[in-house]
Amino acid sequence: MAVAAIIVAGGRGHRAGGERPKQLQFLLGRPVYAWSVAAFLAHSAVDETVLVVPEGRTQDYDPKWRKGVRLVEGGATRSQSVRNGLAALTLGPADRVLIHDAARPGLQCGDIDQLLAALDTHDAAAPALIVSDALKRRQDGQLQTVLRDHLYRVQTPQAFHYAGIRTALEAADTPLVDDLAAVEQRGARIALTEGRERLSKITYPGDFEHMERLLQPPSAAIRVGTGYDVHAFEPGTFVTLCGCRIPHDAGLAGHSDADVGWHALTDAIFGALALGDLGDHFPPSDPKWKGADSAVFLSEALRLITARGYALESCDLTIICEAPKVKPHRQAMIDRTAMVTGLSADRISIKATTTEGLGFTGRREGMAAQAVAVLAPTPSMTG
Ligand code: MG
Repeated sequence: MAVAAIIVAGGRGHRAGGERPKQLQFLLGRPVYAWSVAAFLAHSAVDETVLVVPEGRTQDYDPKWRKGVRLVEGGATRSQSVRNGLAALTLGPADRVLIHDAARPGLQCGDIDQLLAALDTHDAAAPALIVSDALKRRQDGQLQTVLRDHLYRVQTPQAFHYAGIRTALEAADTPLVDDLAAVEQRGARIALTEGRERLSKITYPGDFEHMERLLQPPSAAIRVGTGYDVHAFEPGTFVTLCGCRIPHDAGLAGHSDADVGWHALTDAIFGALALGDLGDHFPPSDPKWKGADSAVFLSEALRLITARGYALESCDLTIICEAPKVKPHRQAMIDRTAMVTGLSADRISIKATTTEGLGFTGRREGMAAQAVAVLAPTPSMTG
């Protein structure tokens, strides 16, 4: 049976403040909607994901953050947006669909597992939390207690059999608070799965900070690695540093392009992952790497970071030499490193120092570089 996901990013979300709708604002380095996109893409049972966006606003959704999902334009109401999303799917009646609010970025694979399992025995399912605070209603200036017995806070994704939700939404003629409301009215058997604080909806400005705290991986999970590399000078006219060709009265000797900066950075990444060193992955004895562009080494290290559920958060490099002068090329080196790593430039530090004429770098026999790489687990998609 196929499974599809619909992420509804329809609303303007003015209550959350900010100049842009809340689903487009950034949360821990990615737009709010991109969190849900990533969660559905990470789940092996989800075959297709559709992102429903406000009519005429597709350009607000950067292709970088929605690779692998289809954009569908929404309608005037949330229900109409969901109907548009459902109509865009090619599902059989018994296939399953998960309908999710883009403003709930805390979705994890485990939540999806529970919902899909519940659909084996139910018509619909949604995560829910029992209300534990006292509930009051203010009416005509008077505060009244509302009995909270049997009250739930119902979240999303809400899971359905395709035919069931399509028919129910087509028949619904009043505005609905959520999609479950459409099938409740028809006596559907509904399962409530375990709700989560992190599945809460971002509604007010303060919710962003709260959600950041919920989604931030524990700092204990951060990994740090260091790298160090040296190459000797040889006759030549340029050196390659962090992917940039820098004119010099000598070149650097090495099996590859001898990019001492990126070698140190690549080693720092292998160090953070505890996966050996550059020589283990790219043996200098292998003729394949003769004259290789060190971007290849760095890209492989980056691939391993992703494969292990981490992301490169920041790096700090120090280039050690008397000459050439690094500073005039620093921005180009940062830009090249940003391009290969996908990091933004403000997370890449490249510094340079001399050794005051001391040692092999001071005698201009070669260059050295050291690097620190910081990796953080890719938050929340696999919990
Ligand atoms: Mg090297």
